[in-house]
Amino acid sequence: MSARIIDISREPDLALSEALTVLFAGQPIALPTETVYGLAADATNPAAITRIYETKGRPRFNPLICHMADLAMAERYGTFDPVSRRLAEAFWPGPLTLVVPLKRNSGIHSLATAGLDSVGIRVPRGFAGELIRRFDRPLAAPSANTSGRISPTSARHVAEDLGDRIALILDGGAAMVGVESTIVKVEDGRLRLLRPGGVAAEEIESLTGLYLERPVTAASGETSGEDGSEADIEARIEAPGMLSSHYAPKAGVRLNVENARPGEALILFGSRDVPGADKAAAVYNLSPSGDLGEAAARLFDLLHAADACGVDTIAVAPVPTEGLGEAINDRLERAGAPRP
Ligand code: AMP
Ligand code: MG
Repeated sequence: MSARIIDISREPDLALSEALTVLFAGQPIALPTETVYGLAADATNPAAITRIYETKGRPRFNPLICHMADLAMAERYGTFDPVSRRLAEAFWPGPLTLVVPLKRNSGIHSLATAGLDSVGIRVPRGFAGELIRRFDRPLAAPSANTSGRISPTSARHVAEDLGDRIALILDGGAAMVGVESTIVKVEDGRLRLLRPGGVAAEEIESLTGLYLERPVTAASGETSGEDGSEADIEARIEAPGMLSSHYAPKAGVRLNVENARPGEALILFGSRDVPGADKAAAVYNLSPSGDLGEAAARLFDLLHAADACGVDTIAVAPVPTEGLGEAINDRLERAGAPRP
């Protein structure tokens, strides 16, 4: 199989009708969202969800985010407490996933939630939202890449990785946000961050007036007690004290470099120079002006590009940790973590 690629901006009606045909046939499609490209399928159809896991080689205990057209649709499937509803109203459509209790007999299949009694819900911007409105069923959609590899932010990234395993790729250009959604869960009136992402933690804190508790990751050697969060899953499946490898290029990754070594691919941030850059095999910059939004949008594309140089190591200069920098540093640490 070689995927058919349809350009949404050139053929929007064809993109919509072909996508619906493939989805109703119980097959996954790759589609653009503002975060990264997703591998989307009918969240109510177990065979369709199974194809997502198979296509990605993703472990089935890792739940999928269910994408909805709007908050009204989301409330058919999940129960929203006042804080979650406020967050939804403020940030949807957008790069925020809310983990809420799953409604009984909601129709979302347990394969999508990995058997949990909660569900991660997000409303994407643009074409994906429009498609879901027409489909009128939630789309389960993880990133459209082989599990553990770098997330795709363009149709070309998807085609190179999964092009011979899926029927249809919708091309919507470069992903605007470029990193996955921020995942938040309200629990006993506390607000917990399960994954940093495209909405900065500070924005969530200033909207709610609540402190956003950061995840206790496997890296710290503790378990969080969370039923099914990424941190907890990693804590269970990884050796204690090791950061789980994810978003991994083929090359090794060296972080917070102060000096580049000869032959490395070098990724800079802002105007600060790194000694040894002249001997690098290739030099990129996430954002010459030091804009974290631009850096997030370019992160995976530059990791893909640096990896394509065939270097042994990708060296990355320090990136500030505030705002979207939290998500950028999270992805970089996982890209650089020891491989299984
Ligand atoms: P992704 O890997 O981008 O597809 O995002 C999926 C992640 O969302 C999972 O690895 C979990 O961390 C999180 N997630 C999705 N559904 C749930 C849920 N019901 N409870 C806790 N975390 C969830
Ligand atoms: Mg992913």
